[in-house]
Amino acid sequence: MFSVQRSEGVFIDTPVLNSPSPVEFISFENQQFYLKRDDLLHPDFSGNKARKFHYFLQNDFPDVKKIVSYGSAQSNAMYSLSVLAKMKGWEFEYIVDHVADYLTENPHGNYKAAIDNGMHLTVGRDTLIPTSGVLLIEEGGRQKEAEYGIQVLAKEIVGWQKEQDIEVLNVFLPSGTGTTALFLQKSFNMKHETSSIRVYTTPCVGDTNYLKKQFSELEKDENQYPSILSLEKKHHFGKLYKENYKIWLKLHQETGVEFDLLYDPLGWRVLLAHPEIFSKPTLYIHQGGVLGNESMLPRYERKYKV
Ligand SMILES: *Cc1c(COP(=O)(O)O)cnc(C)c1O
Repeated sequence: MFSVQRSEGVFIDTPVLNSPSPVEFISFENQQFYLKRDDLLHPDFSGNKARKFHYFLQNDFPDVKKIVSYGSAQSNAMYSLSVLAKMKGWEFEYIVDHVADYLTENPHGNYKAAIDNGMHLTVGRDTLIPTSGVLLIEEGGRQKEAEYGIQVLAKEIVGWQKEQDIEVLNVFLPSGTGTTALFLQKSFNMKHETSSIRVYTTPCVGDTNYLKKQFSELEKDENQYPSILSLEKKHHFGKLYKENYKIWLKLHQETGVEFDLLYDPLGWRVLLAHPEIFSKPTLYIHQGGVLGNESMLPRYERKYKV
């Protein structure tokens, strides 16, 4: 790996994350929840990806000149990496297997913002070849360095729990790769012999088996895994569902908070379908990603606007 040290003479504008991120008390569908506002961590570098890339933000990498990563052309990780690269003065190359014509002709959302930050887009294969001076980032930031920032998140939550005198706490967050939920449960377990915090999640990409497989690639010990909840019906990532749009609008109306349109609607639907979880104090983590709404919302409006 790259050595971590202070480099001399290089101006690095390390931003300060708004950390610990605030916790709010909200009421939704006549139920009470705590809401961890990780969407407010930083104006340009917010939420889940700020946590996952915190390690790279926090340390200096004098040998690195460039980030190379891959994934979809509208991903939150892509956008956040473009911000990270810009902050560090690195180049950023991002590999996609295709870009929709519509997006090339009408750049918007994460795609436009990443291009504006200097992202260099390549259409090609998603194999990352180790090269000197290049920092390789797996799709969605699914790698061990993510644990660093997620431990910071865990520490914030444990501190807050103590402050609030909450004995047993449930934490809920929707998963993509499952990296955040896994490392979060693992961090809680490390802090207490028998942790008083249980992490619940739901797969937004793929099904329960896919998510378990993702966990197993980062951690062999199943005792460290978060609990997986789901709905009976199959859910396809990025597809439009009227129920998702409806709950997103309702969340906005009742809580005043804008959630993301890819993960949170399913997250809240799953959580509300499991009242046994929120019979105990429950903290929902808002993981940011609202910039992606710029592409999702017009699609929903075209399809379902009354
Ligand atoms: C990336 C992301 C997730 C998923 O995080 P994983 O660690 O991949 O499970 C959830 N919500 C938002 C807003 C994200 O950007």
